[in-house]
Amino acid sequence: MTPDIEIDRGPAANLQTILARIDAARKAAVAPAPKTILVAISKSHEAERILPVLEAGHRVFGENRVQEARAKWPALRERFADIELHLVGPLQSNKVREALELFDTIHSLDRPKLAEALAAEIARGARAPKLFIQVNTGVEPQKAGVAPQDASEFVRHCRDALGLAVAGLTCIPPVAENPVPHFALLQKLARENGLAHLSMGMSDDFETAIRFGASHVRIGTAIFGTRVTVQP
Ligand SMILES: *Cc1c(COP(=O)(O)O)cnc(C)c1O
Repeated sequence: MTPDIEIDRGPAANLQTILARIDAARKAAVAPAPKTILVAISKSHEAERILPVLEAGHRVFGENRVQEARAKWPALRERFADIELHLVGPLQSNKVREALELFDTIHSLDRPKLAEALAAEIARGARAPKLFIQVNTGVEPQKAGVAPQDASEFVRHCRDALGLAVAGLTCIPPVAENPVPHFALLQKLARENGLAHLSMGMSDDFETAIRFGASHVRIGTAIFGTRVTVQP
């Protein structure tokens, strides 16, 4: 048998396909979020691969490293107005100031020390980002995020003690596992804590995430293709 050949139609064509699939998944869902925002994850891809997606009118992008974002996005922001940049990777407390200069939304608030650093920087006058608390729904030791049983307490700590505006929750289900229980758990935790937004769903499972109320899907490979750079 001949193997299926994946033809790379380019990021702009892929973007249209993904937007159509998001739309179809929302129509098929019983209770989708009021809106589902596509965060195009451009980590490891160079500006020339991102440009066609910007030229097609898309403005919401995600990166997982502060340094890489700083190298790529200021120049793109000079050319395209209204770019919204999301951090989807872990954030070190000592990079908070830099992160707040670059990112409009942070999906990876995962520990008290980081919450405190964010609150301190905002008190000093930094622009407050939209914040998502990351929950380690699979309780994987190597993965960032608060444990599900600690999530509600951490939400309260961020909101009440530190005065942070928490927008929602994020999860990254374990690879090669059915994501459904993870999406369902995140949805339940968000409801219990009165949080409107859910950042969940990637290239392989975003349609399922939309069924469980995803407000933000984070899609890289299905738009930009396989990542060539090996990330540390
Ligand atoms: C890389 C990454 C994505 C995108 O994953 P794809 O499978 O390429 O769509 C989404 N979320 C996070 C946190 C990521 O690091």
